[in-house]
Amino acid sequence: MNFEFLQETRDAVLKFRELVQKEIAPHAQELDSATDDFKDKTIKASIVKLGAAGFLRSPFMADAGGLGQAWLDWTLSAEEVARACPSTFLSAVSGSLVSCVAPAKFGSSAQKTRWVMPCLAGEIIGAFALTEPEGGANPAAINAVAEKTRDGWVLNGVKTYVTNGPVCDFAVVAARTSPNGPGGVSLFIVPADAEGFKRGGRADLMGHRGAAVGDIVLTNCRLGEDALIGKENEGFGYAMHALQIARLAAAVGSLGIGDACLEHSLEYARGRVSFGGKIIKHQEVSFKLAQMRLQTDVARLQIQFAAWSMDIHDPDEAAAVSCAKVYATESAAKLAHMAVQIFGGKGYTRGSVAERLYRDARLGEILHGPSEIQRVMLARDALDKVGA
Ligand SMILES: Cc1cc2nc3c(=O)[nH]c(=O)nc-3n(C[C@H](O)[C@H](O)[C@H](O)COP(=O)(O)OP(=O)(O)OC[C@H]3O[C@@H](n4cnc5c(N)ncnc54)[C@H](O)[C@@H]3O)c2cc1C
Repeated sequence: MNFEFLQETRDAVLKFRELVQKEIAPHAQELDSATDDFKDKTIKASIVKLGAAGFLRSPFMADAGGLGQAWLDWTLSAEEVARACPSTFLSAVSGSLVSCVAPAKFGSSAQKTRWVMPCLAGEIIGAFALTEPEGGANPAAINAVAEKTRDGWVLNGVKTYVTNGPVCDFAVVAARTSPNGPGGVSLFIVPADAEGFKRGGRADLMGHRGAAVGDIVLTNCRLGEDALIGKENEGFGYAMHALQIARLAAAVGSLGIGDACLEHSLEYARGRVSFGGKIIKHQEVSFKLAQMRLQTDVARLQIQFAAWSMDIHDPDEAAAVSCAKVYATESAAKLAHMAVQIFGGKGYTRGSVAERLYRDARLGEILHGPSEIQRVMLARDALDKVGA
């Protein structure tokens, strides 16, 4: 097995890192406490820059405006954004990658031209609206309804915790087109200026406070026939495909948070003095840093294995993504705990980077299928393999 990336890939990532450190990283701390207006403008400007740099389109196929790059290569650039600013990463990835996966793969060429291409260029922002207030972590519990009319569709329902819900230009919405369980769900592209589309309340988040997350309320929302993505009643499969990519992204987002915890802890431990010496000289502190290094390396390897499994369409790719998500997200929470400990009183104080990362780190274990559900899926997969 060869772990070496092509020289041109490494050069491109280094160049991208410079851009991200200059344009994205400086906003990470202020986005945590700024006004909604400032947050939304700053994130939007960052998405434009990430679009211009080709980051948003890199893993998509050319017919959807993409660059056709490998998921494995995408994880390298994505880690840079996540390390620099978790809020920007969540907003940009949900607003392009996760929202565009289904229409880019299963949608019409008109949908790709109208929505996917401008979104991957960073010109407009999307949202992926699956979760419902009563459905929670069960993606099949869809109560939003789409009724067929003579010239299109009418949608009614409420979607909750939608990343970019308060700012999106369009949302990919899962709605029920038949009572037939997961086999009765379809996906629709809903423009934010459609009649009957209303933005609901904005969530006051614990972490990722720069991101705009909120409800979307659809009341007799009239759409044309061209709003349906792919085939009627096949939307659950499309949504599961998008969710797998969202889980890979959640794992990378957590890896970036873990990286940031290690980086800031190292810097702090090399400068802070206690008992007459730098705290990094205390063995307990250096062991924490060693543990952080160990866990970020393992998380990165699991993510790269999962991305590679997706690139080669391995039959076990979904399990590899679940493993990467569980490990990377749970590691990030542990690393953030250690970072706060190394920062001591400063780590427990509002405005310190360790305090922000501690809050940011909690999301990964919840988002796009909590750790418990990933474990249920992994256990089912293991049982299937032994024929139980
Ligand atoms: C910041 C943020 C951004 C989000 N962005 C989006 C988005 O863009 N689009 C979107 O559609 N959704 C989004 N979500 C929703 C997210 O994916 C859900 O919050 C998540 O799936 C969990 O749903 P819930 O919060 O209703 O948890 P619940 O279903 O109420 O579950 C609560 C807890 O119960 C446990 N649990 C639940 N079910 C099981 C089970 N079967 N087995 C074992 N334990 C279980 C878990 O510990 C879980 O955390 C976002 C959420 C947040 C917080």
